[in-house]
Amino acid sequence: MTTKPARGGLRALNSTGWRPNYKPAPRLIARAIKEAVDPVSFYTSEIPSMPAPKRRAGWIDGGLCPFHTDSHTGNFRIHAAAGSFYCFACEARGPDIIAFTMARDGLSFREAVETLAASWGVR
Ligand SMILES: [Zn+2]
Repeated sequence: MTTKPARGGLRALNSTGWRPNYKPAPRLIARAIKEAVDPVSFYTSEIPSMPAPKRRAGWIDGGLCPFHTDSHTGNFRIHAAAGSFYCFACEARGPDIIAFTMARDGLSFREAVETLAASWGVR
């Protein structure tokens, strides 16, 4: 019995048929993050000064703004469902937790989704 030499294109496949180095497109990871991560839980863990939310609807107090030297909680608001954020003092704003991570940590979109996916166990 002879073994056929593996063709170049197939050598990249492992036994499950997935390329070992396969990475989903960042926008697909982003979609999975938005489905899996509750924005309120995210901001509660990322912003230590954020008060425990009394409700999980609409715009709620997000604690001290991480984008400027903030001493007044109440400037930084987050949207419980969408995860968008807005600061009345420095006007930092963004549509979701991915934009928040990009802005706060100075990451690209891809870096932000990979960071979030890793730290929140999203696959
Ligand atoms: Zn601010």
